[in-house]
Amino acid sequence: MRLPTLSTLALYMGLLATGCTTAVPVKAPDVLLHGDESFTLTERQECVQWAADKWYQQTQGLADLQVVWDVDSGDVKSLKAHQSDNRLLKLSSTSPMTVEQDKESYEDCMDGLHDDGACKTIKLMGITSPSGGIKSPVHTVLKQNLTVGLVTDRFTDIHVCRLVTLHEFGHVFGIPHQDHITSIMFPSVVEGQSECMKPEDLMAFCYANDCGAVQMKPCKEDQVLLDWEKSFSEGG
Ligand SMILES: [Zn+2]
Repeated sequence: MRLPTLSTLALYMGLLATGCTTAVPVKAPDVLLHGDESFTLTERQECVQWAADKWYQQTQGLADLQVVWDVDSGDVKSLKAHQSDNRLLKLSSTSPMTVEQDKESYEDCMDGLHDDGACKTIKLMGITSPSGGIKSPVHTVLKQNLTVGLVTDRFTDIHVCRLVTLHEFGHVFGIPHQDHITSIMFPSVVEGQSECMKPEDLMAFCYANDCGAVQMKPCKEDQVLLDWEKSFSEGG
């Protein structure tokens, strides 16, 4: 019996590799965001790029978002030029979009018969519009031009910036809000939340985008928050 030569081995391996086509996932569309030049270098690298990388890693490359920093939000011409692009804007607490959203949140909150004081504390940290939330294996949200806004002067530190950016990118990938307090897609920033997507977030990602056989990489849920949630639901 003759041992196979190197070239035939390579051929066998090639056949094996190309013969296996059942597990090819449908990839979520690549997203290109045109970023506001007024984001600081730290915000760009330690928060925005960091969050894009995190999504990429935890979905094994399915959630693929890139930012080019070429929007001058102080210049009407530049804003107009990127009108039909996906944009990432730096908002402040006094930006018209922020003020309008704060007002809406306040009214929604009061409609739920909450008290004035508590409702006044609900402040916009980030926004993605038109909002994500489709429940379809065919992802359509990204065909529209999206605006992601981050209210950076409300971020007390880089940790909050990361939580908010991970959350908004989740909307970019078509994910609606989730109920679990440990989830990145929970509607509020929660103290003690770790900077990564939990099982519920990635399940929702695969619901909005076809993940095929790709294994998602959720991180562990935050035990402190789980305990708190449990004691809260038990009324303790
Ligand atoms: Zn949200």
